[in-house]
Amino acid sequence: MSAAPVRNWAGNHGYRFGAFAEPTSLAELQEVVSQAERVRVLGTGHSFNALPDTTGTLVSLRRMPDAVRVDPQRAVAAVGGGVPYARVVTELHRRGWALPTTGSLPHISVAGAVATGTHGSGVGHQVLAGPVSAITTVLGDGSLHTARRGEPGFEGHVVALGATGVVVDLELDLVPTYDVVQQLHPGLTWRDLLADPAAVLALGSSVSVFTLWSGADDEPVGEVLVKQRTDADPATTPGRERLLTRLGDPRPPEAPSSVLGDGDNLTPRGSAGPWHTRMPHFRHDREPSWGDEQQSEWFVPLERAAEAVAAVRSVADVLAPALIAGELRSIGADDIWLSMVHGRDSLALHFTWRNDDALVGEAVRAVEAALAAYDARPHWGKVAGPVDVDRLYPQAADFRRLRRSLDPAGVFLNDHLERLGLA
Ligand SMILES: Cc1cc2nc3c(=O)[nH]c(=O)nc-3n(C[C@H](O)[C@H](O)[C@H](O)COP(=O)(O)OP(=O)(O)OC[C@H]3O[C@@H](n4cnc5c(N)ncnc54)[C@H](O)[C@@H]3O)c2cc1C
Repeated sequence: MSAAPVRNWAGNHGYRFGAFAEPTSLAELQEVVSQAERVRVLGTGHSFNALPDTTGTLVSLRRMPDAVRVDPQRAVAAVGGGVPYARVVTELHRRGWALPTTGSLPHISVAGAVATGTHGSGVGHQVLAGPVSAITTVLGDGSLHTARRGEPGFEGHVVALGATGVVVDLELDLVPTYDVVQQLHPGLTWRDLLADPAAVLALGSSVSVFTLWSGADDEPVGEVLVKQRTDADPATTPGRERLLTRLGDPRPPEAPSSVLGDGDNLTPRGSAGPWHTRMPHFRHDREPSWGDEQQSEWFVPLERAAEAVAAVRSVADVLAPALIAGELRSIGADDIWLSMVHGRDSLALHFTWRNDDALVGEAVRAVEAALAAYDARPHWGKVAGPVDVDRLYPQAADFRRLRRSLDPAGVFLNDHLERLGLA
């Protein structure tokens, strides 16, 4: 057995737990869960808050079987509850399959990403929980429970923050493998962005606007990373060519990004390559991002994107001492009860902060005040202030009912879920 993890990936949170377990089989996991009063699961530890904490047993599934089982007839793959995307995407590509989208890094576990509503970019894409068609959990008494898409309440099981049980198996819808080319454009001005943020974010299959939230109206926002499937038909996006010219020529592939730097952890630009080597920002075989950092993210309706961006821009001076980088992305609406994009195409405003609680606290309060008028939903896995779940999530009460029916003894509850109002 390896040592219990002490801190999360970023180092800004020390895990609290009574005992640590690393079962190597489903039977062993069921035994651990049925014997414990309280249980939480730790994925790959890339969240930035106390979601995995427990007064009971913290369970890691990293020693459980990690096979990726592909069913080509049904175009689905089944993966275990501890398997990271890095393993899944390589295996899928090898077998001629793909996922429609990815998050910015493949290092995270599929179950952890699904549990927190993790997402990539593109209004034509859903969050990573979107392609989940079946999910199997170990309940508090050690029994197995499977929920399938189409069954009542399925939408409550996917983004569930670990509150409905230990996820041991996920079935994911697949698409045929595809190639992607990504280009980094330096020239988008704030004026052009604010004129139509949704159009900018529709310039490719997946688009990220990176910004330091500085500069005047006619100065560049930062950089726009456009990832385009090589089989996409650009003609279907009206005005794309005209807007692309306003973004300026792409930076040469070897030139550093003014926001992301010149780290060798970034995926290649300027050449076409398989989806799993271009859709994430970060290479699977390097440490992602900056490391000594914290992150926050809020989701607002895409139709109010320009107002929300302007509101955050108005507090840029307050954010500056904490800010390492900002990123804007779009995501398509879904009907997943606790998805941050439930019921609305959304703009995601992401912030990478210095790892300083005081600076981050001040910056988070400033963004939340600026976005108060836009029903901003914070990312479940990142740093945020208090969340009014009943105001922001129309099906919060349905989620609580589902959670109580699956876990009447509250085995999978912790203080963080109580504070969120999801107990
Ligand atoms: C560098 C970096 C880049 C990131 N980029 C993005 C991004 O592009 N988009 C985005 O949306 N987010 C992003 N995130 C956030 C990240 O995707 C989420 O925090 C995600 O939850 C991390 O997965 P994990 O396996 O590390 O989860 P953990 O932090 O280990 O756990 C998160 C939650 O999932 C639960 N959980 C994990 N596994 C299971 C299981 N098997 N059964 C039940 N519950 C489980 C845990 O109990 C906990 O509540 C990023 C984070 C980092 C550090």
